[in-house]
Amino acid sequence: MKNECSIVRDLLPLYVENMVSAETGEFVKEHLEGCGECREEYERMKEPQVREESRDAKGNREAAAPLVALQRKLGRKKVQTVLCTVLFVVALLVSAFSVLSAPVYIPYDEELFTITENEDESVTIVFDERVTDYECSSDAHIGWVGVEPCYEIKAWSTLWNKWIFKKDQQFVVIHKVTGEDFSVYYASNDGSENVCVYGEPVTDGGIVTLPRLTLNYYFLIAAVGVVVLLAIWWIVRKKAIVKVWVERALFYPISYCVAHVIVEGFGSSTYSAGRDFMLIIFLSIVIYGGVLLARSIYRERKEIKALTERNE
Ligand SMILES: [Zn+2]
Repeated sequence: MKNECSIVRDLLPLYVENMVSAETGEFVKEHLEGCGECREEYERMKEPQVREESRDAKGNREAAAPLVALQRKLGRKKVQTVLCTVLFVVALLVSAFSVLSAPVYIPYDEELFTITENEDESVTIVFDERVTDYECSSDAHIGWVGVEPCYEIKAWSTLWNKWIFKKDQQFVVIHKVTGEDFSVYYASNDGSENVCVYGEPVTDGGIVTLPRLTLNYYFLIAAVGVVVLLAIWWIVRKKAIVKVWVERALFYPISYCVAHVIVEGFGSSTYSAGRDFMLIIFLSIVIYGGVLLARSIYRERKEIKALTERNE
């Protein structure tokens, strides 16, 4: 409270002269309402005589220079605080979205879907109600001479679709493209062999859809970045200007690692790398912005404190 009083006292001459911004005016007004001592000082300063005196004594604007700087800092701090809060709220929402929309793949069982052959030689696959999303991709076998086309199906649900938004029954129709018979595999995405659910198996051996490891490499690169930048920071820690830039750079790989853990958890592999990567990049940028702002607010606060103390 005492700190706020001294800021308000510094601002009072400007406030009396109506030289403060609307925001600062609001801040001073609020304080005056709750603080008798400052209000007394304000009443005293409002008297025309005192105003003249203080103008003569201080040369008005010149004397107000450090106060104007202080006022500017207070305004900037306020804007930054609002922005920072917004960024962290966005980060929280994106994290929640990421968790709610993460695909939970459904392992194969016989009741998971029914397959019917249609008259035009296409095939319709109707999923049961556990499935809220699916992907049906044809792999490279299509178009290869002498190799029959092969489709891979994966099916999943999300917490969002399970709890909040129920979807209609999902189905997919697969047409004969090349005129050749085709086969359909179901990928459980849990490390087990894919199951041939329609047509003839394309190989004698089993097929396993493997998780994508790309994101783990990115995480590793970011982690190495953190270590390298920390080392550089240690070397330049006494050169204030360089240090600031190293710190700014350092916060990005840290934000990336945090975003990775939020999106991926501590799991080691993902079957939905594209989606996850977009989320991680977006989230890391939001977190990075928030951290930079928080840091700037902290510095602003220190400077305001220093300015106030100098004016006392
Ligand atoms: Zn006060």
